Amino acid sequence: MKTISAAILLALLILLALSACGGGTVGSANADFRPDLVIASECTGEDIDMQIEAGAATSAPCSYWLGRLLAIKAAYSARWGHAPDFSGWRVRLVRTVDGPNAPMGGGRYFAGMTWWGVGGETGGVVDLVTVSAFAHEMHHVDLGWNAGHEGWCPVFTDWEKTEPTVLVDDSYLCK
Ligand SMILES: [Zn+2]
Repeated sequence: MKTISAAILLALLILLALSACGGGTVGSANADFRPDLVIASECTGEDIDMQIEAGAATSAPCSYWLGRLLAIKAAYSARWGHAPDFSGWRVRLVRTVDGPNAPMGGGRYFAGMTWWGVGGETGGVVDLVTVSAFAHEMHHVDLGWNAGHEGWCPVFTDWEKTEPTVLVDDSYLCK
């Protein structure tokens, strides 16, 4: 019985490692979520609690990146008529989303990842290597923990192309 559980856990971990951003949970044993990373600074604006990991690729203050996040959220809201409520969430600008554990393949790593809280409805953590990936992760938060990337191409990707500060990832979403 114990062996079966371990096998299932391993299969789940492999699935999480291979799945797209939005598949992880904060409370899982997923080694790619780093709960104890060192936070260098944090700031809050509107409903967004932001943290910056020590060593993240920025010399700008937290308030600058928070402003960028809020601008992307405003653009998202303008296009889609609403934006998700980030109360109960943390948005972290981090050195790397997945460390060495979960490359997307071909040497590429995720630009962002949404880690759902246990149960999927208790908030969570959005990790960003670049704030431009916030729109993508916001769409995950908006759609809910059990939604994938179905239907994002071309409607969502077309919108990304109209926003100069938003990561365009149609090569990933439209493949
Ligand atoms: Zn995604």
